[in-house]
Parts: sequence; C-alpha cells; structure tokens
Amino acid sequence: MAVYFGVAGNSASFFTMGYAHLLQVPEYLKKFELDAYEYQCGHGVRLSEQKAKDFKKLANDAGLKLSVHSPYYISLSSIEETKREKSVEYILQTATLAENIGAKRIVVHSGSAGKISRQEALELAKDTLKKSVFKLKTEGLSHINICPETMGKINQLGTLAEVLELCLVDESFIPCVDFGHINAREQGLLRNKEEFLNLFDNIENKLGTERMKQIHIHFSKIQYTAGGEQRHLTFADNVYGPNYEDLLDVILKKHCEPVIICESDGTQAEDAKTMKTYYQNISKS
Ligand SMILES: [Zn+2]
Repeated sequence: MAVYFGVAGNSASFFTMGYAHLLQVPEYLKKFELDAYEYQCGHGVRLSEQKAKDFKKLANDAGLKLSVHSPYYISLSSIEETKREKSVEYILQTATLAENIGAKRIVVHSGSAGKISRQEALELAKDTLKKSVFKLKTEGLSHINICPETMGKINQLGTLAEVLELCLVDESFIPCVDFGHINAREQGLLRNKEEFLNLFDNIENKLGTERMKQIHIHFSKIQYTAGGEQRHLTFADNVYGPNYEDLLDVILKKHCEPVIICESDGTQAEDAKTMKTYYQNISKS
C-alpha cells in the first residue's frame, strides 16, 4: 500500500543546503526519502518547456509523484463572467504545465463567497469547473485531475461539504483536503481521531470508497482567529494543531493511499519526513 509524502515548494533547508534550482529538487527530496512534490504556480504559470522536460525526466527517474498548485487569483465563483472565463484559461495553463512536467493533479482554489450567498457562489464555481473540464477534454488533457481545495478562511468558498459538491461535477475530480485549513476554519475542530474519521466517512459517503482512498492532502499546523486561517506554523507548534498522528492513524485504518503534501512554514521537508517515519512505524506494527 502506497502513501506518498512530499512538500509544497521549497523548504528553507533546500537553500541552506546549497540548492537553488528546480532541477535539484529530486536530489534534495531523496535526502529526506520523500516521494512527492507540489510545484507552485500561485503567482502565475511560468516554466520554460525545456526546463519542464528536464524536470520531468529527473522526477520520473526519482519516482516522484508530482502535482501543480494553480494560481491564487483563480476565482471560480466570481460574480464577473470575464473573471470566470479567465479562470478556465488559467486552469488550462496549469494543466498544460502539469502535462509537461508529468504531474497528474492540479490543485485549485474556489474563490470567495463574500458578495453573494454561499449557494450562489457554489453554483457559479460548479459551472466554471464544468467549462474547465470540457476545455481540458478538448485539449487532450482529460487525464489531468482537477483537485478543488478546502479553504482556511470563513469568507472563502471551500468547506469540505462545498468541495465534495464541486467534486461531483466530474468523476475525474479529486478533493484536495487541507486538514490545517479545516481545523483553522472550524476553530480547532480536529482535536481527536474521531473528528478525522468523520471527515473521511463524509468523503466516502459522498464520493465513494475509491475516490476517498485517493484523496490529495495538504497538511500543516495553522494559527487561526475567528475569521479562520491566519498563518502556517511548523510541527514545533503545540497550541493550534491539528496532530499529524491522528490523521495518519485514520489513513491506515481506512486503507487510504493519498498523496500528502506538507505545507509547514519553512520546514516542509523535515515535517514531511517526520510524518513518513511515523506512518512507517504504525504500518509495521
Ligand atoms: Zn492551496
């Protein structure tokens, strides 16, 4: 049974260890025995075709599971039609880059739910995703899985229920479940294993066992206020949580094979390695 552990972007130690370039990422991750990497396009999709090709080969040789995070300015639920149309375009750009580097999954934020009702925002987001998946199909990219992400702030679209609803738009969609976001948004909900188990049961009931097993996971401890997410922390935190041990115990219990991307603040690789070591120990016993 395979659970993949990896990082979002580059940790502080990537640079202090003397690395500087994307093409050095596979070698760096090998030092931590990690096998997943989420390439960040939060501020735009920019990577030359040659570099993408070179990275694809190195990542493939290293057995890395790759994903791509799409731009933050995507707004599936925008009340402006032109912004929704542009979002389809950005999703296509991200999927094209994913194809070029050999990634199968692209993570997408839904947008805000501030100006209209959550239900209206959800309907707009569904429609934009329908158009996006149609676009990917016509461009020969239907094998790239769109992963709508659960969000950390109250005024963003992206509760787990909303994300599962969005995943019903197309059976190729995989939820990106950010447990730090859920915990922050719900003011510390995930304080024990049972709460994690509830979420997995929700996913299974809505999307079926197979899709539940394959979910994409973002994990970090996150500081929050009444409005939700404030900032990402490291595993040194013992105030806000959630605990990775509870998550991994439930993953083992539910026989899941997710990709787990650690988003700790600067210590992604170290903390991902901590998670992997814990998981290896519990799956042996
Ligand atoms: Zn995200």
